[in-house]
Amino acid sequence: MKTHLLTVSATHPEPDVIAAAAACIAVGELVAMPTETVYGLAADAHNPVAVARIFAAKGRPTTDPLIVHIADIDQLAAVATDYPPAYSLLAEAFWPGPLTMLLPRHRSLNSTITAGFDTVAVRMPAHPVALALIRACGTPLVAPSANLFSHPSPTTAAHVVHDLDGRIAMVLDAGACRIGVESTIVDITQTPAVILRQGDVSAEQLTTVLGEVMVLQRTLATSQAAPAPGMLLKHYAPRTPLRLLRGPAAAVQQAVAQIHRQQHTIWLCYAEDEAYAQHLGIATFSLGAVSDGAQIARSLFAALRAADAAGYAVIVVAEPNGTGVAAAVRDRLFRAAEGVIHTVE
Ligand code: AMP
Ligand code: MG
Repeated sequence: MKTHLLTVSATHPEPDVIAAAAACIAVGELVAMPTETVYGLAADAHNPVAVARIFAAKGRPTTDPLIVHIADIDQLAAVATDYPPAYSLLAEAFWPGPLTMLLPRHRSLNSTITAGFDTVAVRMPAHPVALALIRACGTPLVAPSANLFSHPSPTTAAHVVHDLDGRIAMVLDAGACRIGVESTIVDITQTPAVILRQGDVSAEQLTTVLGEVMVLQRTLATSQAAPAPGMLLKHYAPRTPLRLLRGPAAAVQQAVAQIHRQQHTIWLCYAEDEAYAQHLGIATFSLGAVSDGAQIARSLFAALRAADAAGYAVIVVAEPNGTGVAAAVRDRLFRAAEGVIHTVE
């Protein structure tokens, strides 16, 4: 299959481009679309053949359910039912935006989408292109991240093409994603609500709205069966081994220097480390200033992909401190390192 790459304005999507993408969706094809978090691989949620194609194109196991994307609250009624009280509070506070809610599923919803679970994950994205495409299709779109299963999520159209060229009908290129890590997922069918995946909407923000939330601990070994989908420890992983460090900046610098003496190393460093790395001749890819969690989140997946492609023996990165989206970055790094953290002091 030839994959068509179309450029589209991120702020004022051209109607003819959106119409071309909607025409693909209408015949059950797959279209990669930009969202504010990462690029999503979109298909008509009400077309079972299209839904099955998503799993095939990504190489994704059918035990891993899909997020349903809506553009208007009216679209929710065909997808979910019996909304818990937390629903309207969170929709009011965070939609459109990078928050996915688990709701009781509507019985008519294709059970492949929910991997047989009683809940459905729903989100209203805050990206003009995604919203325009959903509206043009007139149907909710299922859209997991537009990467091959277990690769880092795509934050540019080039990442999507790298993983899925020849496997999908179209990629809409609206430039790099603003947030760069996947949406926060919160299960509001339980009380207190449980955060299943951290993202740009932080635990602190959810607590402000709901009063109390729990964060699901994510310490499963790859060999263990996951009690909930999306809990696999090995995820977002580059092929190159990744060594995750935790500790003060000076200790991290010394540890990286030592690793560099033994192995061909690329360091996903912070802006504050660059002079030191240059002095020692260590290859780097800067994630941004150590205190700028938003910039680190935006850079993370592109840096993992670039480091992987450059053919080093090891990727070294230190955990960022801080709350908010920095917590989501720590979660992604933890999984990319398959749950091993090296503490240095
Ligand atoms: P992605 O679309 O690639 O960001 O992945 C979607 C993730 O949403 C999955 O890996 C699951 O972790 C989560 N998810 C979707 N539906 C459900 C559900 N019904 N219950 C729990 N988690 C879900
Ligand atoms: Mg994904």
